[in-house]
Amino acid sequence: QEDKFKNVISHAKEYGYVFQSSEIYDGLSAVYDYAQNGVELKKNIREYWWKAMVQMNENIVGLDSAIFMHPTTWKASGHVDAFNDPLIDNKDSKKRYRADVLIEDYVGKLDAKIEKEVAKAAKRFGESFDKVQFLATNSRVVGYKEKGDAILKRMGQSLEKEDLADVKALIEELEIACPLSGSRNWTEVKQFNLMFGTKLGASAESAMDLYLRPETAQGIFVNFLNVQKTGRMKIPFGIAQTGKAFRNEIVARQFIFRMREFEQMEMQFFIKPGTQKEWYEHWKEARMKWHLSLGMGEDNYRFHDHEKLAHYADAAADIEFRFPFGFKELEGIHSRTDFDLKAHEEFSGKKLQYFDHEENKSYVPYVLETSIGLDRMFLAVFSNSLQEEELENGTTRTVLKLPAVLAPTKAAILPLVKKDGLPEVARKIMEDLKWDFNVTYDEKDAVGRRYRRQDANGTPFCITVDHDTLEDDSVTIRHRDTMEQKRVKISELKDIISEEVSM
Ligand code: ATP
Repeated sequence: QEDKFKNVISHAKEYGYVFQSSEIYDGLSAVYDYAQNGVELKKNIREYWWKAMVQMNENIVGLDSAIFMHPTTWKASGHVDAFNDPLIDNKDSKKRYRADVLIEDYVGKLDAKIEKEVAKAAKRFGESFDKVQFLATNSRVVGYKEKGDAILKRMGQSLEKEDLADVKALIEELEIACPLSGSRNWTEVKQFNLMFGTKLGASAESAMDLYLRPETAQGIFVNFLNVQKTGRMKIPFGIAQTGKAFRNEIVARQFIFRMREFEQMEMQFFIKPGTQKEWYEHWKEARMKWHLSLGMGEDNYRFHDHEKLAHYADAAADIEFRFPFGFKELEGIHSRTDFDLKAHEEFSGKKLQYFDHEENKSYVPYVLETSIGLDRMFLAVFSNSLQEEELENGTTRTVLKLPAVLAPTKAAILPLVKKDGLPEVARKIMEDLKWDFNVTYDEKDAVGRRYRRQDANGTPFCITVDHDTLEDDSVTIRHRDTMEQKRVKISELKDIISEEVSM
């Protein structure tokens, strides 16, 4: 699994998908740049989402609000007071950890230890694994693991001050039970706010403290009434937006899974209070359908319903995806009640109410939110698509089986040889297709190598121009996934490609 993940990262670099930011200066941790292919894949994912959310729903409209917002926004939303990660420092190694992630690591290690011991015992006593595992449930190690799991459950967003001492005590115990950091000298656990601060204005006295937005949602909430009125929207209706968000993440690892600068795709759906259960179910199902429509395998998704809820939510679930490092959150679906709009009413002194003509009364709507990280979706798509395939002739090929609708380049046009007028015909086909699709031209190396290059790049089709083309206007079209080759007329190309790559 670790190897698989390393391959994903190096393939993303080698094929121009993702680069470390500021690489010539040794990079900036948890910040990445999207290269020539990455920017196309990312744009296609964004568009696929936008079409499904905005274009296909007449009651959902778009928005592009600013990254800078009035600082009171973040008081109202709760981010100034409650958007924290619990941190703990190791005094000897001077290393800083996010306490929940550290505990997760201990629990993972304990898990592995338990499994190993149970397997060993089963072998020694000639008993079944299950029976020995049952007998082992009372062991000390299992006890620690349960404690770890229990505190992780408590941690979430609603960690109280009193809990922090418990967290430290547990980390001390876990370090003894299952050494990870190699040292037992810990500081207290402190809460650390994840928002990046900056200043607006030139003079020291008049400058205003601002934050870079840690989520796009608040830009939607503060514009709720503007959009409703100017768009003459009737409840239920939604506002969707995609855009950058910033979080000073402490544990910056796992490539583009957890970044300090990332992009979100969020939709806030405004509903009548009391109808949130139905809409929650509706959006859970609709969002899962969207994921499955990409054909990346039903087994790779699951719901995780939250037991411990954030202060603003009355129900919440994640759609988790099987990343190379296990099932992890990809998207969140949250029933946020009227928490945000009420808070903005209170802090701004402005009414944020909707007049319901059917009911003949005003109310603050409830909100259902769907929130997905564009970069995390990119990682899901990219890592799931990267495959090593054994071929019939005993060789292997690296192929990036991106869903064709998302692939950066839809077709490569390849003249079989660099002479006899074949390049000219290939160029002409390319000139024609580029009005509809992103296409590329490649005449270097033997055609077999060019096919492999396009496979690794994720290009769904290769179109080869040979000497017969000059006679009968036909070309060979090769399909990336099946490697099947078919002879077709040049005039048919547009329809054949379109069939697979259109959103
Ligand atoms: P996590 O528990 O992984 O930190 P979260 O619960 O804080 O995520 P939300 O605040 O619900 O995440 O954000 C919605 C979505 O935004 C997440 O499902 C994820 O896809 C994405 N996201 C959040 N933080 C990051 C990040 N640091 N880097 C990339 N994507 C992120």
